[in-house]
Amino acid sequence: MRCLLFLVVLGTLIPLSCTKGSAGWDTVTNKQVVYNPYDGIDFQSASRVKAISHEHISRKSQLKIAYDRGIRYFACVNYLPACPSYPLSNWSYEYEDYVSPSDLTLTSLTYSGSIPSFVDKNGVEVNTDDLVQLPNAEHLFYSNTSGSHFNVLGSLFCESAHGGRNKGEWSDEALGMKKKDWYSHHPKWDIKDINPQYLNPSNQLFPGKVFGTINHTSNEKAVRSLLNECPDVFKAIEIVNQGSTESDCKKFRKLWDKLLSEGKRIWGTSAIDWQSLGPDGNPRLGACNVLLINDYDSHTLLEKSELGLDAYISGCFIPAGLADNDIIDFVVTSSSVKLQVTGSPSQMIVVTNRGKTEYSGTNEVEYAYGRKDIYVRFEVWYRDEEGTLKDYLFTNPIFIENADE
Ligand SMILES: [Zn+2]
Repeated sequence: MRCLLFLVVLGTLIPLSCTKGSAGWDTVTNKQVVYNPYDGIDFQSASRVKAISHEHISRKSQLKIAYDRGIRYFACVNYLPACPSYPLSNWSYEYEDYVSPSDLTLTSLTYSGSIPSFVDKNGVEVNTDDLVQLPNAEHLFYSNTSGSHFNVLGSLFCESAHGGRNKGEWSDEALGMKKKDWYSHHPKWDIKDINPQYLNPSNQLFPGKVFGTINHTSNEKAVRSLLNECPDVFKAIEIVNQGSTESDCKKFRKLWDKLLSEGKRIWGTSAIDWQSLGPDGNPRLGACNVLLINDYDSHTLLEKSELGLDAYISGCFIPAGLADNDIIDFVVTSSSVKLQVTGSPSQMIVVTNRGKTEYSGTNEVEYAYGRKDIYVRFEVWYRDEEGTLKDYLFTNPIFIENADE
């Protein structure tokens, strides 16, 4: 199915395939790029490291699926309790939880497990101690975030399952209301109280560094409350979650653009969430964030995991599907930004705070900043003739302002 193209007149947007040799485009005003997440990246030589920010992997078979799909930077998440499965070869964490909904005494529990190795699709045994890893956990059931949940990459903080360990007793039926509503009546798990735990250096693999990303962001109020309460934790929201429909993902990006238009500087992440069939009943494409890192291979495993976390925090990654389409070049100047990608995208979209412009039939677009632009980002979609989605990639936004303001 063909999408309708809504063309919004922006600064000057020119698909280069149609305008080879044209010079002297109208540079609307002097603009200054105040932040380019890909600054310093050599697109010809930088490593592309496929990383996961939100993929539930607690068994060997799930880890193998991710590895066989090309994931090489593992921040795997369990469900409950909200504790990391790190390191994969052997993990063990203490946490506290309520005894029961009727007895809210806290009791001490242990979360432990191990995936020492697995055999990949080529029959090669992979020792998980040889994988680049980062601690990560999915956190949920706060009293004031309306059921919203999130991942914190780099955090070793292990917290309560909030009753999640015993589904029967904690089911919506047994509680007589939705669990998220039950928690909203109970102020124990307020995000404001929990937040310092993420910022405590003793809970961080690399002190001073964590990367929080808010999952399938359908609740704007909750997203805003997390961003406002914990700006030092949350650096991103999901812009693709393959557990949600494509139209829901569009809404996530609409919220992203709304926040970016207000001047918030947050990145977008791409997640499969879980590995079974998608909401349309078809297998999911698989998702990743392609970390862009210069000289990656010359580092130790631990250095690689820190470099990956740095890339996440600075937005130096490409939220993408897994079909290996890639950025050939991303050139930022004081008047324009140019993106060139591999393959034959069905659609390239330039998005700014003033709207979006969609193009087809090109793999290269240059956009000259308009006077009131404060950010520019790109979406690239690859669909087959029937309109079935085959791959996608995004850029994180660059942020700009008038040099003479
Ligand atoms: Zn999840």
